[in-house]
Amino acid sequence: MSGLGTANRGTRINGEAAAAQLRSQLKEAVADLEHRGVTPGLAVIIVGEDPASSVYVRNKIRRSVEVGFRSFHHELPVSTSEGDLLSLILRLNDAPDVDGILVQLPLPSHIDSQRILAAVDPAKDVDGFHPLSAGKLMSGSPGVVPCTPLACMLLIRGVKKEIGGLNAVVIGRSNIVGKPMAHLLLRSDCTVTMAHSKTNSLPSVCRAADIVVAAVGHPEMVRGDWIKPGAIVIDVGINRVDREGGGRLVGDVAFHEAENVAGAITPVPGGVGPMTIACLLRNTIQSACARRGVFLPFPSEDP
Ligand code: NAD
Repeated sequence: MSGLGTANRGTRINGEAAAAQLRSQLKEAVADLEHRGVTPGLAVIIVGEDPASSVYVRNKIRRSVEVGFRSFHHELPVSTSEGDLLSLILRLNDAPDVDGILVQLPLPSHIDSQRILAAVDPAKDVDGFHPLSAGKLMSGSPGVVPCTPLACMLLIRGVKKEIGGLNAVVIGRSNIVGKPMAHLLLRSDCTVTMAHSKTNSLPSVCRAADIVVAAVGHPEMVRGDWIKPGAIVIDVGINRVDREGGGRLVGDVAFHEAENVAGAITPVPGGVGPMTIACLLRNTIQSACARRGVFLPFPSEDP
């Protein structure tokens, strides 16, 4: 095992607790900003009534109000045209009270998601999905980091501070999770392999990894015997299974197999999910400070 000495074998990474701690720091930061006349504002747009997206949006709004943000909620019918959605985004780009704009994905198939994401003012791109933000991340320039990969990095760092030189495998190459995740790990000097649906011998690719990040969307695809003893396993997947029995959430990793082998592992639910929302709040505060020219009330560590 290469250099994972500090990760206790089988540690369950508590994403709920890590997120609660981050939110409490952010709440203090918002109170501090309030004294300086700044109240961060987050606009959330959802198009259609996808049940999972509705739950995510409700949670994002609830958490943003809890830390003291101004919240602007735009719930649009599934029939909304791309033109109407673009007009709303342009209005929010111009709205002085709005520091962050989040467009909940997926959008209905008649809307071009890339065009919508590119229309968001980069200064308000708290999801980090604008092409400019993606380019900055790739080139190593400072900029907003997408919330889920940022959440994963903070959870990894919570287990092990120094990860330079470790082998990391990211399974999944989406623009919103897999690719930015790989760039963050690369930025931290990991040797990164990006695996995807066409990767050969995925189990043996994983077995070489000190860090595995699974972002696929296939329930329990990553088995316990794919994991190197002592590895850090970050499970991004959210999959609803057993719908007839009321439905329960599982990740992309077979948790009960992998927890006996991994050094540290995130559960689903209660791992990456809550931390992702906390990172959205963090990005919104950063955007509010940058837009309004005030100092960030917390250190902007490089994840
Ligand atoms: P996506 O569908 O855009 O991408 C999935 C990726 O998995 C693709 O790049 C594909 O190449 C890869 N893949 C598919 N089948 C594979 C296989 N058999 N072997 C290896 N790779 C394979 O999905 P996404 O948006 O990146 O999301 C991935 C998962 O993460 C989903 O379950 C999603 O719900 C979840 N998610 C969770 C959070 C969170 O906050 N926890 C945030 C975003 C996404």
